[in-house]
Amino acid sequence: MKTLIKNGRINTRNNETTAAEIWIEAGKIKAIGTGFPEAEFDEVFDAKGQLITPGLVDVHVHLREPGFTYKETIAAGTKAAARGGFTTVCAMPNLDPVPDTAEKLKQVYDRIKQDAVVNVLQYAPITKNLRSEELVDQEALIEEGAFAFTNDGVGVQTAGTMYLAMKEAAKNNKALVAHTEDESLLFGGVMHEGKRAKELGLPGILSVTESSQIARDLLLAEATGVHYHVCHVSTKESVRVIRDAKKAGIHVTAEVSPHHLILIDEDIPEDFGFWKMNPPLRGKEDREALIEGLLDGTIDCIATDHAPHGLEEKSRSFLQSPFGIVGSETAFQLIYTHFVETGRFTLEQVIDWMAVKPAEIFGLDVGTLRIGAPADLAVFATAHESVIDKDEFLSKGENTPFVGWKVKGETLMTFVNGKIAWFKGE
Ligand SMILES: [Zn+2]
Repeated sequence: MKTLIKNGRINTRNNETTAAEIWIEAGKIKAIGTGFPEAEFDEVFDAKGQLITPGLVDVHVHLREPGFTYKETIAAGTKAAARGGFTTVCAMPNLDPVPDTAEKLKQVYDRIKQDAVVNVLQYAPITKNLRSEELVDQEALIEEGAFAFTNDGVGVQTAGTMYLAMKEAAKNNKALVAHTEDESLLFGGVMHEGKRAKELGLPGILSVTESSQIARDLLLAEATGVHYHVCHVSTKESVRVIRDAKKAGIHVTAEVSPHHLILIDEDIPEDFGFWKMNPPLRGKEDREALIEGLLDGTIDCIATDHAPHGLEEKSRSFLQSPFGIVGSETAFQLIYTHFVETGRFTLEQVIDWMAVKPAEIFGLDVGTLRIGAPADLAVFATAHESVIDKDEFLSKGENTPFVGWKVKGETLMTFVNGKIAWFKGE
């Protein structure tokens, strides 16, 4: 099978692009150039002068299956990813049952093989059933394809458990990925502790609830030599301790979500669940520190934390609704519109943080436009404006505060291993 994507542009450096066609053969990129003879190809796609990038890589999504298929399924969640230009996603293990044994992990992978339209790498938990102190059998789970280990959704509450898990992960050469949240510092909080929480009369979540556990883990990572990856960094103090740890030579990497880069607590208009996420939207200085952290390399990549929920449960107040917002279908457009169009980030940086780096830090053979690499590609209409419309979402979740926002960079096509996984049509 020979496929041609004609009439596209690829990023060269900064915001510069050059005309390019992509020749795909046997699922791989065979050549990147211009003037390929159309008649020799089995199928030809017209990129219409728009931007072709490597397929985006999202190291943090919730696909909710098995256990919560009313919120999302592997089929819907990966279609949503493809519609967002993502070709590889890493799925969190807060499922029911939690894939904490090889047998349970295999069942998740069987469903992924059957239903997924993009590459899915499944995380395994750090401890049995996420909440216990009992460690999983890492080796058995790795044999079954565990991507890395995380209890995302909750923090690991005791240092001893984290230490032993890190030691084991270091031995197995796998990353330990952490949602950091010290529950003894939670005090029932549902949004960032600040002026807006007071105005809305809601209990606040302190910044140290996150940052103090990161500080603990960084020292444990130093002691064990593990690759420690911090999920959804949200506070300026977290950025500072990660920056210091990198300077000290500790093997730490970190991600930030689009919503934490764009929104702050003061943007929350009312006590409504679509604005509730964990970690919460923080203050202005926190947002600035996150942007600075990306720019100076303290934060390595952007990840969505795509967290779909049922419409009814998310339409309640802050105290009543679950944490999380959907992100797969809006991430690139939001980042492109708010940072590239405004000149704060270059296109090259965004591609780096959304494709190249997430693959690189986890040692994945994807994320770049390279001859011989899997033909995982996305085509974005960076010149056209559209409106974020939840009725167009392929995700089962509609819960996002970005509905109605005007954005550029809609995804026209997404290819996974040379096959079309999303096509916008006319
Ligand atoms: Zn989390």
